[in-house]
Amino acid sequence: MVAIADADVRAALADIIDPRTGTDIIAQNMVRGLIIKDRNVGFAIEIDPADSEAMEPVRKAAEAAVRALPGVSSVTAVLTAHSSVPGAGQTGDRATPAPQAPGPQAPGPQTPAQRDLVPDVTWIIAIASGKGGVGKSTTAVNLALALAGLGLAVGLLDADIYGPSIPRMLGIKGKPQPLPDKRIAPMENYGIKAMSIGFLVDEETPMIWRGPMVMGALEQMLRDVEWGRLDILVVDMPPGTGDAQLTMAQRVPLAGAVIVSTPQDIALLDARKGLHMFRKVDVPVLGIIENMSTFVCPNCGHQTDIFGHGGARTEAERLGCDFLGEIPLDMAIRVTSDSGQPIVIDQPDSPHAEAYRAIATAIAAKLAGEPVRAAPQIVME
Ligand code: ADP
Repeated sequence: MVAIADADVRAALADIIDPRTGTDIIAQNMVRGLIIKDRNVGFAIEIDPADSEAMEPVRKAAEAAVRALPGVSSVTAVLTAHSSVPGAGQTGDRATPAPQAPGPQAPGPQTPAQRDLVPDVTWIIAIASGKGGVGKSTTAVNLALALAGLGLAVGLLDADIYGPSIPRMLGIKGKPQPLPDKRIAPMENYGIKAMSIGFLVDEETPMIWRGPMVMGALEQMLRDVEWGRLDILVVDMPPGTGDAQLTMAQRVPLAGAVIVSTPQDIALLDARKGLHMFRKVDVPVLGIIENMSTFVCPNCGHQTDIFGHGGARTEAERLGCDFLGEIPLDMAIRVTSDSGQPIVIDQPDSPHAEAYRAIATAIAAKLAGEPVRAAPQIVME
């Protein structure tokens, strides 16, 4: 197999001219988070959000130029907001990205606290929402699979201890195998590793968890599970912004958080709370995703904005964090995730799978520019 060199990708991208300035996108340092895994290439092009329409042809040209290189089988380029947008940086969001971000294949040094909890995981990211039912788990599962599709080693931890849905969404049955030294083997499907309290107790069992028990279960699922070497561990957080979530955000060494929201105002108000929660504990918010954005009629394909549309984008701009993308309200997304064959796997060529892949690329690109974070001090309440 021909190895794809970083320099070749950059050389190809140096032919892509930014029409606004007449200078190429490499010279302008717009290419971020270049990831090369096997034959797959992903990167982000940083732009001013106001130019997103004008820059779409540039994105397409950049993808085409890299796809033409020998050995390349897939390319995903995404436009991300320039990180010097007003408000960015105040919470640890990257203000000036590293010129050549280390890719997931070159993990940074880890702190003792992190080594202790999950020794070989480069980044842990939280998928969170201000309230339940907005499609957080569906998004977490499809993003985890899309990240794996980029060639990354991915794990998915279901921290939604009150209503674990990952076993069903990943179509995994059975119990995890015990390993020597009281360790547990993670479950696996579709090329990712997964762990959920749902594997250990019956889905129907009502659970009354008190705060310390939740933390105990979560820490066990991090520390005692044989995750092995992972580029990214995606954590499906419990919904809401209460004490349990805050403690969790503090105790897990998170590289960043992604907030899932529906377009309704109420939900956005909740999303804002989620954002502030992570900022409070100094976890960078990687961006907001608008889920159930436009409704696509399964019969005629007509699009309707049931919950309004674009609210999350406007809100993200106002809050100074990135808008990562939108996922429509589509029957196919519900049916596939509820039947254990998420759409990224079941219909990889669909526009919805493409939308998840684009968001996954943006997340990977942002992480590649982030230093690996230390776990904050643990304070027992
Ligand atoms: P949460 O984790 O926020 O509680 P879930 O991911 O469990 O939400 O989703 C709630 C329900 O909505 C599920 O039945 C799921 O299949 C469905 N759903 C989620 N996102 C979409 C979407 N974009 N289009 C259609 N149905 C969706």
